[in-house]
Amino acid sequence: MMARTPLFAGNWKMNLNHLEAINHVQKLAFSLTGKDFDAVEVAVLPPFTDLRSVQTLVDGDKLRIVYGAQDVSPHDSGAYTGEISAAMLAKLGCTYAVIGHSERRQYHAEGDELVNAKVLAAYRHSLTPILCVGEGLPVRQAGGQVAHSVAQLDGALAKVTAEQAASLVVAYEPVWAIGTGEVATPDDAQEVCGALRVRLAELYDGDVAAAIRILYGGSVKSDNVAGIMAMPDVDGALVGGASLDPAEFVKICRFGE
Ligand code: PEP
Repeated sequence: MMARTPLFAGNWKMNLNHLEAINHVQKLAFSLTGKDFDAVEVAVLPPFTDLRSVQTLVDGDKLRIVYGAQDVSPHDSGAYTGEISAAMLAKLGCTYAVIGHSERRQYHAEGDELVNAKVLAAYRHSLTPILCVGEGLPVRQAGGQVAHSVAQLDGALAKVTAEQAASLVVAYEPVWAIGTGEVATPDDAQEVCGALRVRLAELYDGDVAAAIRILYGGSVKSDNVAGIMAMPDVDGALVGGASLDPAEFVKICRFGE
């Protein structure tokens, strides 16, 4: 099987101003060693307003940290007040754009069609989507987590080619585990991540599915990450709250120690 480099992505959500962002990335860069970066990929996902500062720091100090945005417009340019395009993010050196985060789906009524349009917009400008899928509590209680997450995957990937999909990152984030301290068990995470990979093989082929990194997200911390990372179809984590503490995020990135 193709080896997948684990990805740890810190979703800062609406936290840290541009000065705090610089301080934070400096702390990460100071704590992480070359060995860490050989073992895993480390990404930060700051608010839009911090991206230019992070770019300047990463470029200036040749840091091996990559970064991305927490959302992207489905449109390339034009009269879309308040939107930020994939082209703008690419120009700022972003590698990733989070798309379909449950907080966007929930508070901004984003559905699969919009999520799909954002995924296609990201690919048009060479950004890699971190596509979030995952079920809420009622769906989990009814045992519908796999069907729900697979349906969101299908919806998000309409018209996405195999060549594009090969670079995709999927994040399985059960909504009931986000910011709640209620982490999914490693088996819960594997059940859905494994099913997502099976579906990716059906949509594309086995090689594409084997190349795609599938992250788990939902109350990941340094004391629970190792169990989740031991699962065969979990290739890293999308980390919210715990990524705001640089020391804790570094411990997460060093899950194997
Ligand atoms: C997230 O927002 O993507 C997330 C997983 O948050 P938390 O780690 O705080 O649950």
